[in-house]
Amino acid sequence: MLLTRLVYTSTVTNYFRPEDIENILLKARMHNESADITGVLSFHRRYFLQCLEGSRENINETYHRILNDKRHSRITILSYEQINVREFSDWSMAYIPESSLTKPVNLSYSGSSEFNPYDMSGESACQMLVSLKKLLPFI
Ligand code: FAD
Repeated sequence: MLLTRLVYTSTVTNYFRPEDIENILLKARMHNESADITGVLSFHRRYFLQCLEGSRENINETYHRILNDKRHSRITILSYEQINVREFSDWSMAYIPESSLTKPVNLSYSGSSEFNPYDMSGESACQMLVSLKKLLPFI
């Protein structure tokens, strides 16, 4: 199996309601578990930043489904690589909402006073998600 990691960012649209998060996570966890996909979804201001890890075939199938979701747009791949080890092996889809704990981490990786994931390199985006992972027990 070719283990693959994909990181993308996107922006919420008018179809998105804050209460949709629960449903998105429910569907994501159900599907990802059966496809052996792990990862994390972070939400900051109006941006999603998501990491998906799994077989190349399953990552591509899932990503194409996510692309068709009207609740977000400007979906932009920041990183797509073959990996040896998963970073998020414990989570079918961890969720990291914006909070006073996450804001300093977001800003420290964004390189400006306003967090904008579209300006980030793939490497910074991955590193930021790994740093945010350490906050999961406290969220
Ligand atoms: P259904 O839930 O029946 O949906 C059918 C169609 O309607 C889909 O195209 C769906 O996108 C769309 N839809 C559903 N609800 C709404 C709504 N409230 N408003 C507008 N359109 C709607 N899925 C995964 O499997 N794994 C993931 O990791 C994952 N991450 C996601 C991250 C983000 C930021 C978003 C926005 C969605 C994510 N999803 C993920 C959900 C994915 O986009 C699909 O909605 C879901 O997988 C489709 O489930 P379903 O086949 O049961 O179709």
